[in-house]
Amino acid sequence: SPAQPAFAPPTPMMEQYLEIKAVNPDSLLFYRMGDFYELFFDDAEVAAQALGIVLTKRGKHQGHDIPMCGVPVHAADDYLQKLIALGFRVAVCEQTEDPAEAKKRGSKAVVRREVIRLVTPGTITEDKLLAPADSNFLMALGRMKGAADPSYALAWIDISTGTFKVTETAQDRLLADILRVDPRELIVAEPVFHAPELKPVFDMLGRVASPQPSSLFDSTSAPARIARFFEVATPDSFGTFGRAELSAISGIIAYVEKTQKAERPPLSRPEREENSATLFIDPATRANLELLRTLSGQREGSLFKAIDRTITGGGARLLAERLTAPLTDPAAIAARLDSISFFHSEPRLGEALRLALKGVADMPRALSRLALNRGGPRDLGALHSGLAAATTIAGLFTDTVAPTEIGKALEAIAALPQQLTQHLEQALGDEMPLLKRDGGFVRAGYDAELDEMRALRDESRRIIAAMERDLSEETNIRSLKIRHNNVLGYYIEVTANHAAVMTGTDEAKARFIHRQTMANAMRFTTTQLAELESKIANAAARALAIELAVFDTLVKEVVAQAQAIRAGADALAMLDVSAALALLAAREDWRRPQVDASLAFEIEGGRHPVVEQALRQAGEGPFVANDCDLSPEGSARHGAIWLLTGPNMGGKSTFLRQNALIAILAQTGSFVPATKAHIGIVDRLFSRVGASDDLARGRSTFMVEMVETAAILNQAGDRSLVILDEIGRGTATFDGLSIAWAAVEYLHEKNCCRAIFATHFHEMTALSEKLARLHNVTMRVKEWEGDVVFLHEIGKGAADRSYGVQVARLAGLPQAVVARAKEVLHQLESGEVSGKTERLIDDLPLFSAALRHETAPHLAPHPAPHIDALGAMLDGLHPDEMTPREALEALYLLKGLA
Ligand code: ADP
Repeated sequence: SPAQPAFAPPTPMMEQYLEIKAVNPDSLLFYRMGDFYELFFDDAEVAAQALGIVLTKRGKHQGHDIPMCGVPVHAADDYLQKLIALGFRVAVCEQTEDPAEAKKRGSKAVVRREVIRLVTPGTITEDKLLAPADSNFLMALGRMKGAADPSYALAWIDISTGTFKVTETAQDRLLADILRVDPRELIVAEPVFHAPELKPVFDMLGRVASPQPSSLFDSTSAPARIARFFEVATPDSFGTFGRAELSAISGIIAYVEKTQKAERPPLSRPEREENSATLFIDPATRANLELLRTLSGQREGSLFKAIDRTITGGGARLLAERLTAPLTDPAAIAARLDSISFFHSEPRLGEALRLALKGVADMPRALSRLALNRGGPRDLGALHSGLAAATTIAGLFTDTVAPTEIGKALEAIAALPQQLTQHLEQALGDEMPLLKRDGGFVRAGYDAELDEMRALRDESRRIIAAMERDLSEETNIRSLKIRHNNVLGYYIEVTANHAAVMTGTDEAKARFIHRQTMANAMRFTTTQLAELESKIANAAARALAIELAVFDTLVKEVVAQAQAIRAGADALAMLDVSAALALLAAREDWRRPQVDASLAFEIEGGRHPVVEQALRQAGEGPFVANDCDLSPEGSARHGAIWLLTGPNMGGKSTFLRQNALIAILAQTGSFVPATKAHIGIVDRLFSRVGASDDLARGRSTFMVEMVETAAILNQAGDRSLVILDEIGRGTATFDGLSIAWAAVEYLHEKNCCRAIFATHFHEMTALSEKLARLHNVTMRVKEWEGDVVFLHEIGKGAADRSYGVQVARLAGLPQAVVARAKEVLHQLESGEVSGKTERLIDDLPLFSAALRHETAPHLAPHPAPHIDALGAMLDGLHPDEMTPREALEALYLLKGLA
């Protein structure tokens, strides 16, 4: 008969592996075997590659070797971190019974194993995997098809802190709302993920977004799921949510249940964020203004980095959150500003607060780990020190009359569970081990039995030391030692040449029970030693059991107070942010802005916080402060537009950005880098600045620019602030000018917003005669001995020239090119060639003159009648006299003329 390949059936262990892997197809499976997590098959190949670890093999499956690699359990966090950072998900599969139990079921029985947790980028809690200052959001998108347009909602949590927010959104602002929160992971129901109209959104998000089964998002079963999770009768008690919101909330909860298995993180109840309560910043603007990160993804150089003076991780996270969602309600902004004014006028108190905050550990994150059964003694220690610091902090404010927001924070701090604080104080020792199974974290004097067991253990150790001394004297063996290892426990060891003493007589043989013979030594025990040993072991085991019980009790108490602890931690974060912004304001000379419901935009002495600090660090500067006034004039109903001209490098982009940043900072509730600022609430901020090239997605720079400009012209309203830099640069001059021209007219007539429009098209300054609310301003420069000096100072009027040639010279363009460019410019400006470049080419002797003056002798004057530039140049070349390098340079020049 034809030979069917007869494969050995999979081993029972492999069978178990394959079964578990089958239900976790989209995760790498960490399969626990002893002290290692092993990975098999494709997982092994992927992980070995990603982690740079050795790929081996183990046994065969259907005739093929099974690839395998493994990571030691004690170092697993580091490997997890790498894999998560690379965007992988990991299913952690543990042995869930004692191998001895399995043996009882039969010699071939496999230890029971279960996936106890799915580790995904949005659901991590380990300190090693988290940056203290970064939130780690998991977000879910809910979508409901209705009679009209579908409705959308986003829900997001930080499982490491318990934050839970939800907001309604719409298709056209979906990406902006997602990017505002900047989640590590976005989960979407399968069919929604594949909806063609949302493709651009998910393309943009890349690996962050992942499809999940629709059942997670089912809005009909959502209320029951939510109620079950929060142990309430109905979710109505949290407020009324729309169906899309319920779907998103349900998606989050279902995903948490799916990934955390048996454990339940202490999430806050979902809190709604109203769209209208925050300043809308479109994605391009958010990226270009480099609020939290620079365009290249760095913290260094971002606005956040420039203004962050917070002490605690919670404070840094709150500051980042505020910065990404500035407010639109003047009263809410004023409340935040009041807190900063308070610390600004009480610098001593601010300093004392900051000192005390240094003792505050990351309480919400410790709390989450404890609740998820992933915590250790250090997490209890963190809560202890945080709660203790909170008591100190409350004491700092006893005699002060604080503004509302601080008053509320102090109330939350006062409401922290005193009893728990005291209990932790009494129960925890000074040194916290990493793992609870190491013991030693409960304070002496806290539990009488524990003290007794520890005394017994320590006493027995002393007795053993005495026994060693006695035995050594008795036997006359100086080198006799009593040692301990995990296999033998305590044993007496003598070198081989002394062994006879222990085995020589029957009496000795009876007393010293032989345990082990080594190359150079023999090991024995005695009944007395064995007794002592079991006493020590029992005492240690009992001591550890007591410590673990204390640990569990404390964890229960802590988790029961989760809500109060989180509220207290939020309050501390708020105090941290306010004191930090006050300190920043004092050090950097920032002032309190006036923010109201008007349409004013009046900045005096404004600065760009990042550029100013960078100049100072580089020992350059000073930064030149500039005013900006876009407020409605006289009886005008709308704000003004500034048309900004000036040379490249004059400071235009800096000025544009600084005004946007000042608006953001003011509405964040911070003081601002200006001597005076009056800002009428901005509800939407748009910008088209910098060249955020999108070539990777197959769009030209010009296309990106036009898409962004279209978004602005279509959406900006009379409360918007619009910042436009060099529109129309990416195309031919007349095209560009026409587009820029039309865009300004549209902004003025239709959008009616406050705007600053920077351009190098000087022709556009004529528009100010036609458009009443348009003003020409320019970055001043001084000419000095033919060079241009940038004053970085804004002034009324239009730039008379663009100084491009001078700037080119500063940049180090060859003198020949600069000189030639000046000639061409002169010709063009004097109208001699009146735009007809053909004539320019015909008429001018091009480089010959310049080259004669400035280049090497081999390009010596060689006045020859020439027909064209190439000819002229060729005439001047003497190859025999040139070095290879000079030849190459000449070649480049020639190429440039062609
Ligand atoms: P532009 O957009 O006109 O080409 P930038 O805004 O990019 O010019 O500014 C060019 C450089 O000039 C900046 O990198 C900065 O170092 C410096 N600069 C800009 N504005 C100022 C200012 N107000 N004071 C001092 N230096 C400035």
